[in-house]
Amino acid sequence: MTDDDLSPTQRRLVEVLGARGTERPAFPEGTGEAVRADLEARLAPIVAPLPEDAVPLWVNKHDLSSIHGCEGRYLAEQAEPFAWTVPMARGTVAHKAIELSLGWRGEVLPMALVDEAVARLEAGERSLGEFLQRASEADLAELRAEANERVAAFLELFPPLKREWRPVMEARLRAELCDDRLVLNGKVDLTLGRAVGLTAGKVLVDFKTGGPALAHRDDLRFYAVLETLRLGVPPRRLATVYLDSGRIDAEDVTEGLLDASVRRVADGVARLVSLARAPDDAVLRPGSACRWCVRLESCATGQAHLADEDA
Ligand code: SF4
Repeated sequence: MTDDDLSPTQRRLVEVLGARGTERPAFPEGTGEAVRADLEARLAPIVAPLPEDAVPLWVNKHDLSSIHGCEGRYLAEQAEPFAWTVPMARGTVAHKAIELSLGWRGEVLPMALVDEAVARLEAGERSLGEFLQRASEADLAELRAEANERVAAFLELFPPLKREWRPVMEARLRAELCDDRLVLNGKVDLTLGRAVGLTAGKVLVDFKTGGPALAHRDDLRFYAVLETLRLGVPPRRLATVYLDSGRIDAEDVTEGLLDASVRRVADGVARLVSLARAPDDAVLRPGSACRWCVRLESCATGQAHLADEDA
């Protein structure tokens, strides 16, 4: 395939995600250590009151975006027992299928990838595997069709990923902090490129469906911090690619961006710890998300907000 075979959106993706050598920023020696020191200085007093023998507190991007949204909704979701549903499984199946596309030989057909992904998840992951094994034929058909839509959208929007771009799907990130009492963790949908010395070169990419949201940018900024802690040098750029619209929201990683994200992580962990002790202190922040909130039926604040919105 030559560049002439790429669609305009594929060419735009190559332009937004790629960079020539001179466009890659070099970060000062010790950037990773400075980010870790700042984060631990902010987090140490927050985790200090936790019992010494407590299991580590695990925090991911969903915890942080939830706690920075409505705290009442966060607590309500925490109280719900976890159970797989078709919409939840859809994303996992689609991501697995996209991961398989990277090493797939021969013609890449979205539904073939989805079928292989379902088969592997059925056999592999315990709770999701059980859900898939027990799902009705209709639920499986819905799941396969919706995952197929996402995979097809990815394959249409992205150019074939070249080996020299060093693509990695579902790249896991993790940082143990404050004497292992706190673990920050996440998984980036796609990474491209690599750092060379202190010169940033990696791009972190998340795929989303639906419309843009500020929380999507914050998710990637959180990953930028984790990557900086892991490598000692930050990623070069962050990009959210919206599969439904072809929109690409990208920003360069700077020291100011990392500072802001460190503060957001520390503020979020502080609220997580505080609410675990005093759930009645939860701050309600009504918004459009009230429509899908599990607590809406008993939440006068959310109901009033939606009544205003609909008036
Ligand atoms: S209904 Fe709205 S305000 Fe009430 S808990 Fe849910 S998200 Fe928060």
